[in-house]
Amino acid sequence: MADTQPRVVSGLELWQWRCQAIQAAIATDVSVAEVDWLLQEVAGLDRLVLRLESFKNWQEIQLKLPLKDLEKLWQRRLHDRLPVQYIAGVTPWRQFKIAVSNAVLIPRPETESLIDLAVASALNEAIPPLQQGHWVDLGTGSGAIALGLANVFPEATIHAVDYSFEALAIAAANAQNLGFADRIQFYQGSWWEPLTPLKGQFSGIVSNPPYIPTSTLPTLQPEVIRHEPHLALDGGADGLDCIRHLIATSADYLRPGGVWLIEMMAGQADTVRELLQNQGSYSNIQIYSDLAGIERFALAYINPR
Ligand code: GLN
Repeated sequence: MADTQPRVVSGLELWQWRCQAIQAAIATDVSVAEVDWLLQEVAGLDRLVLRLESFKNWQEIQLKLPLKDLEKLWQRRLHDRLPVQYIAGVTPWRQFKIAVSNAVLIPRPETESLIDLAVASALNEAIPPLQQGHWVDLGTGSGAIALGLANVFPEATIHAVDYSFEALAIAAANAQNLGFADRIQFYQGSWWEPLTPLKGQFSGIVSNPPYIPTSTLPTLQPEVIRHEPHLALDGGADGLDCIRHLIATSADYLRPGGVWLIEMMAGQADTVRELLQNQGSYSNIQIYSDLAGIERFALAYINPR
């Protein structure tokens, strides 16, 4: 983005931009709420000021990018279906503001429940308690799950793995900015591979792996399929390649009684339950729904030895 351009606009200019951005959103079937959310992020305006339009009379408003660039990106939102979170460079997730770029999947609201399920799962009796020791987020992307785990398990060491160096850079920056840099260790690699020295020691693994069947990818919203990383979405022919891998490998890394917890897609629960049962190392298998009522999460414990 051209740094020479002014990032200060008058309230009137921004008000005018907002009016036409809202009209354009209506015309292209984009939620008008995105305009004000984007203005909160790039202009630092709060919701009340936006609703009352009181900023219209302000002399100067400082933007995070030149208005021309904002307009160009907004046009890409409307016509190229660029997700608004990639324009703002952030997304809200649990209590965090998480930085995102198109190198990482935008953390979804439903994924927030994984952290609550991890907390509940760790109430199971174990010595030492499951809230302690090593927890891992495999396929961390933006780092959201690792950050959530670090927050709810203050006594645990959190590990986060991703195959993408670009994603890891964003995850590490998020950990730094949100004050969790000393709590989370990041590794580049494939699933458990970088963690072989800690075999048999993990209290829990939490993952939102790619789980969309390859043939379904083209049917996803254009925002997703055109802009989000396919590495984070494509789960192979039936969508279960990564979940199968996580079922097969996690038994070697979890300690007796350790927690296995993943997100999946609508329609996969029965197969995932069966895969867990057939593997032989897991017990107390449970399926949980998300707030939309979709069977979305699978939880199991490694058999005690
Ligand atoms: N939930 C994401 C979506 O709706 C997919 C995430 C994933 O594959 N893990 O596109």
